[in-house]
Amino acid sequence: HIINFTDIQLYIYDKCPHDELTIIMRRYMMKIAETIAKDHDDKALITGESIGQVASQTIESLLVTNEVCTLPVFRPLIGFDKQEIVEISEKIGLQLKEFLLSSDLTEDVENPDYVFAIGGDGTVLRTFNKYMDKLDTVKFLSIHTGHLGFYTDYSAEDFEKIFFDMLALEPTIEQYPLLHLKAYCKDGKLIADSYSLNEITVNSHSGFTYAAKVFINGEHFENFRGDGLCISTPTGSTAYNKSLGGAVIHPQMDLYQITEIAALNNLVYRTLGNSIILSKEDELIIKPLKLDNHRISVDFRTFNYDTVSKLYITLAKDKKISFIRYNDVSFWKRVKRSFIENE
Ligand code: NAP
Repeated sequence: HIINFTDIQLYIYDKCPHDELTIIMRRYMMKIAETIAKDHDDKALITGESIGQVASQTIESLLVTNEVCTLPVFRPLIGFDKQEIVEISEKIGLQLKEFLLSSDLTEDVENPDYVFAIGGDGTVLRTFNKYMDKLDTVKFLSIHTGHLGFYTDYSAEDFEKIFFDMLALEPTIEQYPLLHLKAYCKDGKLIADSYSLNEITVNSHSGFTYAAKVFINGEHFENFRGDGLCISTPTGSTAYNKSLGGAVIHPQMDLYQITEIAALNNLVYRTLGNSIILSKEDELIIKPLKLDNHRISVDFRTFNYDTVSKLYITLAKDKKISFIRYNDVSFWKRVKRSFIENE
């Protein structure tokens, strides 16, 4: 049986305290399951709950849920050690899928309108990579399960709130800029054409220092020598860029940032030393002095090239990523939650 829960949820949302929505919903689920069981002359209910996995599955919550039914409830997974984040993510994924399918939505893995990423920020990066060619139509929503969760508004503990938010609230769509990379080899052939959500880094995979001429808008800016360069989006500013001492940037700003990775600065080699923030019109060109042994990383993907003569990086002009937001957790609150203290 698939039960359409929409009307019940809207009613609960309207009439009940909002910090008890999930537990009240679970009581209704139990009640309905028991009604169907009794209609079929079934003698017990079986659920997939396990203790403490999410806030609605604490002992106290299970007690409150049990109160609404008289049939015995078997919970074969109750003692499962669910520390494996993957298992938790899969379970949340299944529940979310059931909810979405019962809300008149259909599943379309190839051409979706909405994509749900369940995991950490790394999962968001991988999901973005999968749907990079469909950013015009796809909107992302993510739930974090035990990771940092910088891109996410929902955690494993409160993910069931999504069910209510999706029914009752009008979402806002936030769009964040991306980077566009084009890399060419000596004969002018395009060898990489990619978009990045976090950052692009360039360095040498031979272990030697990386040396390159840096041009901004066609003008020679500096000669870099060191471990490499990190070019980040505003959303990527809290990732690798932050570890390198770069500035944290509000994700809706149309700009990008270059941060040095261990630059040599002495009487012979000199770079600015600070991270540089470029506007959406600025075009960055990096021309390596040695053309071989190139490593370019785009978010979590790394590519080694025998020869690269020019990298051309700008803020993407034709693409942005869209995130669905139901609550207004401000960007700065997320920064505080992730890096300073989680109240
Ligand atoms: P990973 O080594 O498994 O994860 C790197 C960490 O970065 C994870 O804790 C991840 O959070 C976090 N993260 C990713 N994007 C973020 C963002 N926009 N803001 C704040 N934190 C973020 O690698 P991965 O999962 O494949 O992710 C690739 C990313 O790792 C790269 O894009 C780069 O930014 C980052 N990285 C950082 C360093 C460094 O800081 N020294 C070095 C190399 C790469 P979750 O735990 O929630 O997934």
